[in-house]
Amino acid sequence: MNGKISRQGRQVLAVLSERRVHLTAEEIVRLLPDVGQATVYRSLEQLERLGQIRKLNLGKRSAYYEYARENHMHFVCDRCHEVIDVACDVTGVAREAGALFGHRVDRVEVTAGGLCAACMAKEKNAQQ
Ligand SMILES: [Zn+2]
Ligand SMILES: [Zn+2]
Repeated sequence: MNGKISRQGRQVLAVLSERRVHLTAEEIVRLLPDVGQATVYRSLEQLERLGQIRKLNLGKRSAYYEYARENHMHFVCDRCHEVIDVACDVTGVAREAGALFGHRVDRVEVTAGGLCAACMAKEKNAQQ
């Protein structure tokens, strides 16, 4: 396995680490017009393998990628499909629980669903 990150891989990583948001592969392709689509997809695979980024499968839409960092869960709005980070010590809790049974926890994905604050406000306004 090649452990070195390519120049294009670093560009992809920079997009995800600077923006700190959740992006689909298609969105990353659009943000990096100089890097070809196939290269972006290959870089995403490589970065995921190296643990630099995480791939999130949230519902029916395309996979999202984000800069790997611990201790947060995701909230996905049922209406506008916005993905929002919620600070929460899920990694520590899962590690402790796993260790009790002799497992090593490497990844934790917690997704909550419902209605986001913006959609709730819209709904309230519509009722008035
Ligand atoms: Zn919403
Ligand atoms: Zn996130």
